[in-house]
Amino acid sequence: MSELEFDLFVIGAGSGGVRAARMSANYGAKVGIAEEFRIGGTCVIRGCVPKKLLVYAAQYGAGFEEAKGYGWSADNVRFSWGDMVAAKDAEIARLSGLYKKNLDKAGVQIFEERAELLGNGQVKLMSSGQVIRARKILIATGGTPRKLGLPGEELSISSNEAFDLPVLPEHILIAGGGYIACEFASIFAALGVQTTLVYRRDFVLRGFDMDLRKHVQNELINQGVRVITYANVSQIAKQNDRLIVQLDSGQPLTVDQVMMALGRTVAVEGLGLDRAGIAINDTGAIKVDEFGQTSADGVFAVGDVTDRTNLTPAAIREGAAFADSQFGPRRHSFDHKDVACAVFTQPAAGSVGLSEEDARERFGEIDVYRESFRPMRHTLSGRNERYLMKLVVRSLDQVVVGVHIVSDAAPEIIQIAAIAVKAKLTKQEWDETCAVHPTASEELVLMRQKLTA
Ligand code: NDP
Repeated sequence: MSELEFDLFVIGAGSGGVRAARMSANYGAKVGIAEEFRIGGTCVIRGCVPKKLLVYAAQYGAGFEEAKGYGWSADNVRFSWGDMVAAKDAEIARLSGLYKKNLDKAGVQIFEERAELLGNGQVKLMSSGQVIRARKILIATGGTPRKLGLPGEELSISSNEAFDLPVLPEHILIAGGGYIACEFASIFAALGVQTTLVYRRDFVLRGFDMDLRKHVQNELINQGVRVITYANVSQIAKQNDRLIVQLDSGQPLTVDQVMMALGRTVAVEGLGLDRAGIAINDTGAIKVDEFGQTSADGVFAVGDVTDRTNLTPAAIREGAAFADSQFGPRRHSFDHKDVACAVFTQPAAGSVGLSEEDARERFGEIDVYRESFRPMRHTLSGRNERYLMKLVVRSLDQVVVGVHIVSDAAPEIIQIAAIAVKAKLTKQEWDETCAVHPTASEELVLMRQKLTA
């Protein structure tokens, strides 16, 4: 085999690509990987990881305030955005380095440049011009923020830039009502930025359980976010140092920064899908079967570029299943059902399984258990924040098919609840589990009052 021939060549060193590359190499395959930006991908470089660090930063702000109710005096506390960004950058650099080291350790050859498909098992490295031949190719290029082409859109930022703003704006307008819009609205508001969220429908987080959506939206408002619903940004213009945002629903708003969080599109532009005979679906994502096989022989895809479950742990599982199936001992695929997820607002939301609406549509008869309450922590903190615990149960066999939580610990709780949902435990089995007291999550095993729809 010459230097530039591989058993597997991976395009994109994000969560899915790196996992597939490392595991395949550990199974003995000769593996190369190309990355045009930074090793680690969206999650590590400008997604989950830096976002969670900002969430921690934001929580301290609220914590200082709340501590007063517990006897602390926390006057004159100050936040330095510059210090936070520098600390975050150092951590991201450390993690990216670790990813690289682990790829090296597994014997994966890294090419830090863009790669494009030539077809017939060939890939071209765009800086060096080298052509690579691979028995198998894995596309794991992820996604990029969606652009609408609005007048003045170039004056706005996306989440990519939000992590590295030179200064915190005084007033930010965030367009969208999904994960990114809600999380950043919550972060900016907690950091003291006047925050306006503009969303085209009634309640944020479409696709989630309606009670959870309403609860999160109320808490955003409670946190000080101005939420404007049934509205779209139609134009952005610069006036002196500020931005004038025209909404399709009324008066223009004057702000310092506009962040568009209108979803993400798959990163396939210029990749050579046509040349390689790779079919896409109607959202433009690469069409794959359950094993990640595309329409072209020997070419596979995992992660956001396939637009299935667009979450890091799903991409990692897809990458692992690919490696096991193609180079390892076991052909299997990742089960996309009942994947838990969390939205890191303040308080956060966690969800697994079916929403009440989806369960009702699927099963007809369902039982709903729901509690909304002020957590014990806020009896002294003075904060007027409420939590939500909700179980959706299939009437027929009493299996808990959906769990929806809004609480500071929702992301941690939902991880464990997902095991019970995946194991198809019944409401009675949840109830037989003794409570841990005093906690907020004990509600999950104490709810006895069935709600009538
Ligand atoms: P989402 O798909 O979650 O939300 C996109 C939002 O933009 C929706 O509110 C949508 O409205 C709105 N929108 C889309 N197109 C338009 C349009 N033309 N005009 C006006 N509004 C529009 O995308 P995000 O960008 O927030 O996040 C991308 C993905 O990244 C998520 O789906 C998730 O998979 C992942 N992610 C996960 C996180 C986590 O696990 N905590 C955190 C961040 C991202 P509508 O509801 O009406 O469609």
